Amino acid sequence: MPFLDVRAAYAELSEQIDAAVRRVAASGRYILGEEVEAFEGSFAEYVGTRHCIGVGSGLAALQFALLAMGVGKGDEVIVPSNTFVGTWMAVTHTGATPVPVEPDEGSYNIDPGRVEGAITPRTKAIVPVHLYGQPADMSRLTGIARRHGLQVLEDAAQAHGARHRGRRAGSLGDAAAWSFYPGKNLGALGDAGAVTTDDDAIADQVRLLRNYGWRERLLSECVAFNQRLDEVQAAVLRVKLPYLDEWNRRRARVAAAYREALDGVGVILPQVEPGMEPAWHVFAIRSRARDAMVGFLRRSGVEAAIHYPFAPHLQPAYARSGYGVGSLPVSERLHAEVLSLPIGPHLPEAAVRIVVDAVQAFDGAPRRAGAAPGGAG
Ligand SMILES: *Cc1c(COP(=O)(O)O)cnc(C)c1O
Repeated sequence: MPFLDVRAAYAELSEQIDAAVRRVAASGRYILGEEVEAFEGSFAEYVGTRHCIGVGSGLAALQFALLAMGVGKGDEVIVPSNTFVGTWMAVTHTGATPVPVEPDEGSYNIDPGRVEGAITPRTKAIVPVHLYGQPADMSRLTGIARRHGLQVLEDAAQAHGARHRGRRAGSLGDAAAWSFYPGKNLGALGDAGAVTTDDDAIADQVRLLRNYGWRERLLSECVAFNQRLDEVQAAVLRVKLPYLDEWNRRRARVAAAYREALDGVGVILPQVEPGMEPAWHVFAIRSRARDAMVGFLRRSGVEAAIHYPFAPHLQPAYARSGYGVGSLPVSERLHAEVLSLPIGPHLPEAAVRIVVDAVQAFDGAPRRAGAAPGGAG
């Protein structure tokens, strides 16, 4: 059983998607036309913000939102120590320095209790990531940001449709960055991203940054990029957006089934924090025998994934960041112990049973000494 088959979403909506692609092809308008504008309007309404600006990828969305907030060389930006490395890279691309803060071990999200200790006179912004689809503790984080005059950019790339105290992820900070990479909860047929915000100035800057600095065509107000959401991807996203909530409900049902069946099996299950409604982008469990478990599951026909195998600070790209092995122990432990079970709106019920049986069988299987799965904590 594959970890995720992105073709299943296409199969469910293929007639509408094919029609949308044909409509764009026949229109002769392929860049920044009606489809992008219509998707931006619908997604802003869905998230609950005044603006949505479509861009070429999640990384571009993060980078442009930071630049629009005025982040640049000499600045520091607080990021989670455990996240997809793109969160860090967006900061680095602006010329600023990512300053990692360790996660809370229950939610896996940035620990608000550790943020103030990382703030210096150079700190400009905090980038909480709603990791695996569960919103970070935005109430506390925005409170800290207000007290210190910092901006908050949500990395919402895994949180399409998630809610925090009833409000959608992506409407909780000064701006939010989205990815519509095919494997995300709302995925395009290629690369795509967006920024959502209520802030007119940020929205205006992001619009310039994605398109050569043009407000008026061919007249550049700033040195910018070519990172536009294209018409075909926007048309596909328009077809899929109305299905997002139903698809997230299906994900939540899979998550509930896993949580019930795997309780007490010797793995640490994901914890849902009070007031949070996760989008269940990833169902990550923890085991001290992670690598043995991934191998066992694979031999049982279940493909598990690891989000993520390498902590950002230990990647060659950040070899000169000054954070060596042991410097961010919570993140390093999580990176060694997490594995993700198959989850998605099109995962058959029978597949859930197969996954559960395989995880339970591993719990009962004899293993080398010292490779016991993590139970407590
Ligand atoms: C996917 C993802 C990104 C990057 O999105 P791309 O569209 O692949 O550039 C950034 N942050 C997080 C947390 C992600 O999951």
